[in-house]
Amino acid sequence: MNSKIWLSSPHMGGNELDFIHEAFETNWVAPLGPNVNGFEKDLETYLNEDVHVAALASGTAALHLALILAGVERDDDVLCQSMTFSASANPIVYQGANPVFIDSEQDTWNMCPDQLEMAIEAGIEKGKKPKAVIVVHLYGMPAKMDEIVAITNKHNVTLIEDAAEALGSSYKGKKCGTFGDYSILSFNGNKIITTSGGGALVCYSEEDKNKAIFLATQARDNAPHYQHSHIGYNYRMSNITAGIGRGQMMVLDKHKDLRRGMNSFYKDLFKDIEGISLLVEPNRDYYSNHWLSAILVDPEITGITREEIRLGLLEDNIESRPLWKPMHLQPVFAETSYFGTGVSEKLFDIGLCLPSGSNLTSEEKSRIKNSLHKVLEKAI
Ligand SMILES: *Cc1c(COP(=O)(O)O)cnc(C)c1O
Repeated sequence: MNSKIWLSSPHMGGNELDFIHEAFETNWVAPLGPNVNGFEKDLETYLNEDVHVAALASGTAALHLALILAGVERDDDVLCQSMTFSASANPIVYQGANPVFIDSEQDTWNMCPDQLEMAIEAGIEKGKKPKAVIVVHLYGMPAKMDEIVAITNKHNVTLIEDAAEALGSSYKGKKCGTFGDYSILSFNGNKIITTSGGGALVCYSEEDKNKAIFLATQARDNAPHYQHSHIGYNYRMSNITAGIGRGQMMVLDKHKDLRRGMNSFYKDLFKDIEGISLLVEPNRDYYSNHWLSAILVDPEITGITREEIRLGLLEDNIESRPLWKPMHLQPVFAETSYFGTGVSEKLFDIGLCLPSGSNLTSEEKSRIKNSLHKVLEKAI
């Protein structure tokens, strides 16, 4: 049996262990230290928009703190893109607030600005303006940020940008992760760079960053004993994992280019195949890191479903995965309200993510190509 080809697997650059050794040699084996500060500095330099970054234990923790800093409390409404990973929505529930899910649009698969505005207006009409909006850049593709920022500004609603999948992407030349009132990043094992597990909150003032770090380190008041006036969390990043992050930052742009190369590989592979369309940048305003390359399969034209393609690839030990199942279709959110016209349902029915890692070899690419050709030939 051939070795497994993964959707997206960790890809070390080579310098990560040096930073970890340094942490051991200096005994900074703790959730603070030079690697944590250094990794934050690296991210601030990379994003380059006068941002302030707090390194945290996960992207989910970063979203939770963003909601707290945005003042989200029990029974507030928070509007959230429906087509996303559950981690975008779960922290709304941690706060005792109510998620309201918003459908996607066709071009980027991200939050539909029309449905967003309808949901905000509906909230205002019933006397309950939503407290925050969570927009996501799925698979690295920037959402329609001009429209979304204009709507949240117009109605004065806090915008939280979930850029967990979009480090290295940009929209009109501005990096994803710098559009929200708060933005979050993730460094989980399958993301474009990884610290094995980790995340970051991007803030726009030193004061917000300090508040986030205060909450992330159990909210200790300034006193010699342990004194607390707030509920705190244990959400800080460790100095060991931050060392991995510092090494990964050295290869981020290189790995982004390799993922973009995977997208070109699929563009070429599917260019003459009717009924299969790849998620591509709608125009030059959009620049995607192409964290994952994903296709839509029209079974009426191809004679094959996305599930048959997935199983065909699996037979050759190649991993692929349906798109994120929209949150409003998840059993756990069955009672939650939703604004949409069925776009995300349709995408979920026919969409498939393909192996997209920056570490795929040319042999592995050949295997993917041959396997896809084999599956598609059977269909015709
Ligand atoms: C990975 C991911 C997160 C969560 O990040 P963790 O670091 O795994 O907690 C949040 N939102 C999206 C869209 C993600 O893909």
